[in-house]
Amino acid sequence: MPPWETCLQRLQEHISADAFDSTIRPLQAQPVQGGIKLYAPNRYIRDEVNREYLPLIIEFLAEFGGGSRIRELEVEVGEPSEPEPKGPKPSIQGRICKHRGRGGLDPAYTFENFVEGESNRFAKVAARLVADNPGRDNNPLLFHGSVGLGKTHLMQAIGNLIQSRDADESIVYCHCQVFLESMVEAVRLGSGAMQQFARRYQSASVLLVDDIQFIAGAPQTQKEFLRIFNRLWDGGRQIVVTCDRYPRFVKGLEGSLKSRLSGGLHVQIKPPGKAMRVAILKSKARNRGVSLSEDVAGYIATVANANVRELDGALQSVIGQAQFVGDEVNLGLAQDALRHLVGGPGRMINIGEILRTVADHYDVKPSEILSKRRYRHLVRARHLAMYLVKELTSRSYSDIGKEFGGNHHTTVKSACAKIERLIQIDLVLDQEVRSLISDLKR
Ligand code: ADP
Ligand code: MG
Repeated sequence: MPPWETCLQRLQEHISADAFDSTIRPLQAQPVQGGIKLYAPNRYIRDEVNREYLPLIIEFLAEFGGGSRIRELEVEVGEPSEPEPKGPKPSIQGRICKHRGRGGLDPAYTFENFVEGESNRFAKVAARLVADNPGRDNNPLLFHGSVGLGKTHLMQAIGNLIQSRDADESIVYCHCQVFLESMVEAVRLGSGAMQQFARRYQSASVLLVDDIQFIAGAPQTQKEFLRIFNRLWDGGRQIVVTCDRYPRFVKGLEGSLKSRLSGGLHVQIKPPGKAMRVAILKSKARNRGVSLSEDVAGYIATVANANVRELDGALQSVIGQAQFVGDEVNLGLAQDALRHLVGGPGRMINIGEILRTVADHYDVKPSEILSKRRYRHLVRARHLAMYLVKELTSRSYSDIGKEFGGNHHTTVKSACAKIERLIQIDLVLDQEVRSLISDLKR
């Protein structure tokens, strides 16, 4: 076999350093019977080599004794196949990039326990599509949205499903913070470590890259990531990426990377509305063998409304408290367990604070909210204030009626029901209520 290394030296003498680095150096050679086969990491490089350098390569290889096969040399996209390793196969965990403090894929992140609703329906459909047909039409698949909304869960559900169908699939999950840190380390250790670093990701049949915004402002890391990305993409391997916003809005992310990330299917995951928060709570409670009544689920969904992670944490506090006091989960217990979410320790929000906060928000006076005037904006503010008092304090409907200028308890009840109904369908109002509650919690 003509030595590829010697051929490389000749090429280096004949072509510019830039062209050599970008086009020839990334090639990998594999000896085949009577000749050599070349592999390019992506089709751009393959085309460039075929167009510009193939005659030269053939000439140099022939000088070292190549026969007719070399005259027919072609460059393929891909990697040389490695001989089957001897000894036991590495475990799945061993092949997965370690997430900080936790190894690889979390088996709890499945499609079955991902609750679907208005805000994530399309994301779940897209994830299923990709899990059923990896590397096909939706490559890369990008999930974007703020924290705690289920991006990692869905991404790992794809990995878990593919892995459950075929244990030999090499699913590589990596958080970008880890990618960044291991690359810095590899650069420090030198070229061998760097090759090993790249190989780890290039060996993936499915690459799951979490929180890509973490490599913003690190151009070298982005360049390396893009190289890995192109290589996998060209080889028809599936790539799934998450980001805390649409990549175009991430400062410090290179244009080429932004455009590659936007080149497949991108789906936003939005914060869940109230109805969905309740559904998530019930499902999570059921998984823990606890059944939640409507009022308890409603209360938790109201006070823990930032994202699903907060919701989950709140549910755990309530269940933990119930186990601690040996009681069953009820509204009083939930209110007690979640005081920290509604104010400082031991502190409950009172009607006066709610009135002031709602009045500020609508730019009216608390006395106007308590009056009988029926201007549209006052009625909305009044209903909202009643709703918040019901949700955030332990006051009864008739108590609230008395506080709000002698309203009958049925009036309060229907005002609360109306807001509750509207929140389910009006995301803007839901957002408004959530921001009022977060103001109240401060
Ligand atoms: P992100 O990656 O968007 O920050 P995660 O995927 O880490 O969010 O989700 C935070 C927590 O909320 C996880 O425990 C996850 O299982 C849970 N979670 C998020 N969305 C859902 C959902 N729709 N159904 C069930 N659990 C969810
Ligand atoms: Mg995440």
